[in-house]
Amino acid sequence: MNVEKEILNLRAEIHKHTHLYYVDDSPEISDYEFDVLLNKLIILENKHPEFYDPNSPTQRVGGKISKNFVNVKHEYPMYSLDNSYSRTDLNDFHSRVLKKISNENLSYFCELKFDGVSINITYENGYLVRAVTRGDGVSGDDVTENVKTIKTIPLKLKGDFPDKFQIRGEIFIGLNDFKKMNHERSSNGLEPYMNPRNTASGSLKLQDSYEVSRRPLQCFLYQIVSDDNNYSTQEDNLKFARNWGFNISKSFKLCNTIDDISEFIDYWDKKRNSLDFEIDGIVIKVNQIKYQQILGFTSKYPRWAIAYKFKTMQAQTLLNSITYQVGRTGAITPVANLEPVLLGGTIVKRASLHNEDQINKLDLYLHDTVIIEKGGEIIPKIVDVEIKKRDFNSVKVQFIQNCPYCLSLLKKNKSEAQHYCVNSFSCPPQITGRIQHFISRKAMDINGIGKETIELMFENNLISNYSDLYFLNKESLLNLNRMAEKSVENIFEGLENSKKVPFERVLFALGIRYVGQTVAKNLAKKFKSIDNLILKSYDELIEVDEIGDRIARSVVKFLGDSNNLKNIEKLKMVGLKFEIDSTIIRKSILNNKTFVISGVFEDHSREELKSLIDQNGGKNLSSISSKTNFLLAGDKVGPSKLKKAKDFDITIIDEKYFIEMLNN
Ligand code: AMP
Ligand code: ZN
Repeated sequence: MNVEKEILNLRAEIHKHTHLYYVDDSPEISDYEFDVLLNKLIILENKHPEFYDPNSPTQRVGGKISKNFVNVKHEYPMYSLDNSYSRTDLNDFHSRVLKKISNENLSYFCELKFDGVSINITYENGYLVRAVTRGDGVSGDDVTENVKTIKTIPLKLKGDFPDKFQIRGEIFIGLNDFKKMNHERSSNGLEPYMNPRNTASGSLKLQDSYEVSRRPLQCFLYQIVSDDNNYSTQEDNLKFARNWGFNISKSFKLCNTIDDISEFIDYWDKKRNSLDFEIDGIVIKVNQIKYQQILGFTSKYPRWAIAYKFKTMQAQTLLNSITYQVGRTGAITPVANLEPVLLGGTIVKRASLHNEDQINKLDLYLHDTVIIEKGGEIIPKIVDVEIKKRDFNSVKVQFIQNCPYCLSLLKKNKSEAQHYCVNSFSCPPQITGRIQHFISRKAMDINGIGKETIELMFENNLISNYSDLYFLNKESLLNLNRMAEKSVENIFEGLENSKKVPFERVLFALGIRYVGQTVAKNLAKKFKSIDNLILKSYDELIEVDEIGDRIARSVVKFLGDSNNLKNIEKLKMVGLKFEIDSTIIRKSILNNKTFVISGVFEDHSREELKSLIDQNGGKNLSSISSKTNFLLAGDKVGPSKLKKAKDFDITIIDEKYFIEMLNN
């Protein structure tokens, strides 16, 4: 086959499978097969730059840097939407429409109001040519390269589309993905992101499109904008757009009366918590395009649409005090202690304040009456202060200057919002925090010791570092209050078992700032042992994929510190793994096979099994789909997982069989 044809075929194939996977949610090939196709295309395109195509699927991986985003004027202004909050508001809207349209077949198309960032995308001859943010509505930023990395947005259309048109949609991050991102950040010692919406908006404005490609951005499209609109209704427009390959939400309703609309609103007001993304209301649009044209726009809004905003859950209460938590990295987080109040069915006693800037922005005084709100986050936040209710002699909240535990002066980098206590070796919550991290499930997974036990041991001077755990003696543990013989045995057993934990997790457990699970895995794979890693310079570290300046500096600093080196020596002495285990690791043995683990196992913890799968070239999945190869089932395997596995005809194996697989 000639090369050009082969490239074109590969592109079409990959576009098709991307759509099947991300938009239709019904993949036809495995991730592995997909990667093979993509790699083939990358190689061919590199060899033949003459066939460059800005909309090739290879462009999705990003890599282009935008120093400044070019400001582009919108061909059609991006209006905002008028808001409504009640049945009366809806009736008023309907009467305004009826003044201009006195036709019986008027209907309304109701959609979810996605809470993300709006985007305007232009397609020409079926190719994505430009994507621009809303900006001030008149002009916005050209973020084409970044938008191209979003898999739910087609780069090339299918079917019978107009030559040129624009389409609008909302870019967002799903709640589950958001949780995962924050989890990963916390385990890297980073501040969690505030909310999905700001994170989506920040991601879209990153300069490096490769970074954007790694953010779990998604997009729903909801409006075609074009002069020669062939389709007569909003409903048809969206139907056709779906056929061209756009991701269109399936939650909508065509309504003939205000009663119908109210029903849809009530339904989603109750159901919105079950969605994996945030919505802040419902958008009601006149369905017939010709009526939309008659109604036109005010200076700010279309007259043919209105948003119905859900009430956010808010409550008023008193700010009693502020406490400052110190994390294991020394990061200081202020927390507001509130007079308990009922909000959305739960009693709220605390609200997060994030950092000093947040406190200043709110202009908080002690004992203020504050308004708290619950959004997508679990901990509510303070959104406003009732200044009128403020007592005249109350005092402004001053951010602390010294660590509340060790009294050392706090530091703050200009580029960060967070304050830090840098006295890491003798600040109590940092010491216990590091040990607690060390024993946690994803690190050394030491059964038998809990967070409180660590605090108890520390207060009684039994430990001042994680390496001390392995030098505890039975007598002193038994002397601690509440400690029974059996509990002490469990502790020693847990410690003994932890000596089997693989190097990459030991590395993660050390608690090097910015070295989360993934980074630890990469470092272990690349450098094989701690001794080798200790010898590496900053320059050698940043050569490694995914290791940037910040991580490299942090690793060099950590491994150059004599206290840390002493601890590592002690841990080596007791037999923790400080190099990768070459006997069981045969990278390709599982050959990209996918596994789901469920139940309780006799000889290994689930984390251990996961590492084994990973180290031997398999992949861990969290839920069963047609793409799963094996269900690794232990005792008390989840019945729904078992049923799903049977439905998909997936091979079910036990622990013994799995270990045999590795040994053969
Ligand atoms: P607002 O920002 O509150 O004035 O609301 C207008 C914004 O709602 C638009 O700019 C869109 O970004 C957003 N939006 C979310 N979902 C939809 C939808 N289904 N139809 C129209 N606009 C929507
Ligand atoms: Zn301190």
